Amino acid sequence: MNTELVQIVEENIDAKAMEALKRAGDIIRSGGLVAFPTETVYGLGGDALNPESSRKIYAAKGRPSDNPLIVHVADMDSVSGIVKEIPEAARKLAKAYWPGPLTMIMNKSDKVPYETTGGLDTVAIRMPNNKIALELIRQSGGYIAAPSANTSGRPSPTVARYCVEDLSGKIEMIIDGGQVGIGLESTIVDLTSDTPMILRPGYITKEMLGEVLGSVDIDRTIIDGNSKERPKAPGMKYRHYAPKGELTIVEGSQDAVVAYINEKAKEARAAGKRAGVIGTDATKSLYRADVVKSVGNRQEEATIAHELFKVLREFDDEDMDVMYSESFDDSGIGQAIMNRLLKAAGHNVIRL
Ligand code: AMP
Ligand code: MG
Repeated sequence: MNTELVQIVEENIDAKAMEALKRAGDIIRSGGLVAFPTETVYGLGGDALNPESSRKIYAAKGRPSDNPLIVHVADMDSVSGIVKEIPEAARKLAKAYWPGPLTMIMNKSDKVPYETTGGLDTVAIRMPNNKIALELIRQSGGYIAAPSANTSGRPSPTVARYCVEDLSGKIEMIIDGGQVGIGLESTIVDLTSDTPMILRPGYITKEMLGEVLGSVDIDRTIIDGNSKERPKAPGMKYRHYAPKGELTIVEGSQDAVVAYINEKAKEARAAGKRAGVIGTDATKSLYRADVVKSVGNRQEEATIAHELFKVLREFDDEDMDVMYSESFDDSGIGQAIMNRLLKAAGHNVIRL
């Protein structure tokens, strides 16, 4: 299949861009797939109400079909069409955080095929905060099922180049809208139980949800890497975001971490391996390895969320054998950062 690559600037959706978005919408309406930017990561979109489209999404990503897809909508009215009822909590959260990086789980109506929900009676819904995505949803009939636009198991794409790498030849179109703003997938909150529960941490933190809802729980398996329980979001049980090389997170005081990583990188290189380091703006110059990258600035954690997946992908491009990363504070958005980083490292952590 020939994959068309289209460039659109979010701040300038002119007549030419609209024409491309109409075509993209036609592709989705007729059962095809389009990768597109959102504010979190790039999505791989198909018609959420067409079981065949969902099957194609799983096939293109190599994603296990029990891992449900998030349905993207452009307005609140669309939500009513695909759920049994909209819980009060959902209305409040939508008012506070939609469009935005928050996915809500509700009980699905018959309109949503089980192919989209991985066999579940619930459906995950989000309204993305990206003008290209919102227009594409409108042009596509209102409901786009979209997981992250990467091959299953690889870091989610935050730039279109990585959608091209993973999906070229497998889907009809890729819309390049530049680097995404947030860089980590949405927060997922389940509203089908008495107390809302976070199933995946993201940019919308537990504290932010608590401000609107009062009490909110968090799925224990997210915080406890050794938990034997099954995560409540089916996708969270899979090893995600895996770079090709072996990644170790090193935790401790800055001096101890730098000394340890430099020593390990030296040993690896002496053994003929390529060693990489994920540091921060403040520490980057202190490391000695084949490749040293800064993932951002600790004082502004959003910069770390923004760069993390890109840095992991870049290390893949550089054929690293081993990589060492600093650890981050796991409060606020740090909880999402550490959740992704721990998964990428297969929970391989050295505590000094
Ligand atoms: P992705 O689209 O790749 O960011 O992954 C979507 C995530 O949402 C996966 O971890 C899914 O398991 C989760 N998810 C989607 N629908 C549901 C649902 N109905 N119940 C629980 N988790 C869901
Ligand atoms: Mg994903």
